[in-house]
Amino acid sequence: MTLPESDARRAELARGYTAARERLDAAVAAAGRSPGDVQLLVVTKFFPAADVRHLIGLGVRTFGESREPEAGRKIAELRQADATDAAVAAAEFDMIGSVQSKKAKSVARWARTVHSVDRAKVVDALSSGVQEACDTGSRSADLGILLQVSLDGDPHRGGVTVEELPELAEHVRGAHGLTLQGLMVIAPVDGAAQRWMARAQEIHAAFVSDHPDARELSAGMSGDLEEAVAHGSTCVRVGTAIMGPRPLVSQ
Ligand SMILES: *Cc1c(COP(=O)(O)O)cnc(C)c1O
Repeated sequence: MTLPESDARRAELARGYTAARERLDAAVAAAGRSPGDVQLLVVTKFFPAADVRHLIGLGVRTFGESREPEAGRKIAELRQADATDAAVAAAEFDMIGSVQSKKAKSVARWARTVHSVDRAKVVDALSSGVQEACDTGSRSADLGILLQVSLDGDPHRGGVTVEELPELAEHVRGAHGLTLQGLMVIAPVDGAAQRWMARAQEIHAAFVSDHPDARELSAGMSGDLEEAVAHGSTCVRVGTAIMGPRPLVSQ
């Protein structure tokens, strides 16, 4: 089975991707940081495998997905359609959405890193999912783990409090098949991005002093990537600015 091709969509994605890259490069330069310090994760949730294929053609290799089973199906479809393509094989997918324990097993089969870990129960489920995926040959490397920290305590957006963070970090360190890599935040959309990202930077600095080998900070989306990069983000997760508006489907 091949994926549908559309020159118009490819051109639209090329424009969106180029514009986002330019924004990111400008933000990195403005912050006095080095090019390559900040990874661009293109968020393809709700969009089809054909879009991911177009983006791979544009040179994108790192993607963010937030919903299972949508993500697992899309990645399988992509790989089936281009089974011999080295660029498709090299593409990596991160889970950026909240993980339910019962879906952890399938996420462990395809994810490079999970950005949104905020419960010990999910840590345990991912750890046993990784073990099973390794046993059955669907993965060979550890799963990267970022702990999602809540900046404002809103349960809807998820994340642990700063107080809960040390215990959860120790829990990840004690789990087989998982590598603690850092933190992730989602800033509230209230016009105060500078303040939220400054807070994230503070939390991150304290975390890194306890965990010097877990230095990632996944922060910044279409609306606040400049503020995130100014405050130490190592990975921005950009959807809308590249893909266009998502179809309106309730999450
Ligand atoms: C959807 C999503 C994004 C991308 O958001 P945009 O505003 O479309 O760039 C980033 N992070 C998470 C966790 C998401 O769920």
